[in-house]
Amino acid sequence: MTGSLAVVGLGPGDRRYLTEEAEAALAAAEALYGYGPYLDRLPSRADQTRHPSDNREERARAEAALRHAAQGGKIAIVSGGDPGVFAMAAAVCEEIERGPESWRALDVAVIPGITAMLAVAARVGAPLGHDFCALSLSDNLKPWEVIERRLDAAASVGFVIALYNPISRARPWQLASAMARLRRHLPATTPVVFGRAVGRADERVFVTTLEEAATAPADMATLLIVGARNTRLITRPGRMMSLVYTPRAAVEASA
Ligand code: SAH
Repeated sequence: MTGSLAVVGLGPGDRRYLTEEAEAALAAAEALYGYGPYLDRLPSRADQTRHPSDNREERARAEAALRHAAQGGKIAIVSGGDPGVFAMAAAVCEEIERGPESWRALDVAVIPGITAMLAVAARVGAPLGHDFCALSLSDNLKPWEVIERRLDAAASVGFVIALYNPISRARPWQLASAMARLRRHLPATTPVVFGRAVGRADERVFVTTLEEAATAPADMATLLIVGARNTRLITRPGRMMSLVYTPRAAVEASA
C-alpha cells in the first residue's frame, strides 16, 4: 500500500480560517505531525495519533512523517498559515530529495492556507495592493548580508515588503537593524503595519512609521508590512485605525 503525506496549512489562527480542503485532509489522516501549539489547535481524536515536536525541529519532523508515510500510513503534517511560505512544504521536499528513492513514490499533497501577510494586510486595508515581496528576517538559514542585500533591492525598486520572523529571543537585534537599512531607501514617514497573532484571541494590529518601527513592540508572532513610497493612509472619522493601501498604479521607485 502506498502511503500518503498531506502538508496542510492551518491558516493564521482560529478554525474559521481553515479551508474545507484542509479540514478534509486532517480528518482523513491516521497520524498528525507538527509543532505542538499548532496541533493543540485541532480537536483530538481517539483514532488519530499525534506527534508534536519543537519549533526548530522541522527537518526531523519532516523526516519522521515521511518515514511513517513510507510504511503505508496516511499522514498529515501541519503548518501555521500556508505550508509553502517559510514552512513545512519546503522542508518535506528537502527530505524527499535527500532521502531514499522510495519516498519519491509517495502520494504527497500540499494543501494551501491563508498566509500571515494576507491576514495582516486584510486587517488594515490593501497594503499589498500593488507589487510586493516577502522576506524572512531569520538568519538561521541564510547569512545576514544576504538579508541586507535583499532589503536594499526590494526597497530600492519600490516593492512593499512583508517581513516574516522579524524577531525572537535568539535574534533580538535583527528587526532594528533591518529598519535602519530600509531607512537608506525610504522616508521616515513610510507606513509600517505590525500584525501580531492575527486571527487569534491575543491579536494586536497597529500602524506606525519606519522611523518608529525599530522600537515598536514585536515578537515571534508578529508580521510587518513595510510600505513603498506610494503606500498611503486614509484617516476615517471616529476610527482609531486608518486604512493603509498601496494604489494599483506604480510610481517611479526613485520618485
Ligand atoms: N507558514 C507561515 C509562516 C511561518 S514563519 C504562514 O504562512 O503564515 C513564522 C512567522 O510568520 C512569524 O514569525 C510571523 O512573522 C508570521 N506569522 C505566523 N502566524 C502569524 C499570525 N497569526 N499573525 C501575524 N504573523 C504571523
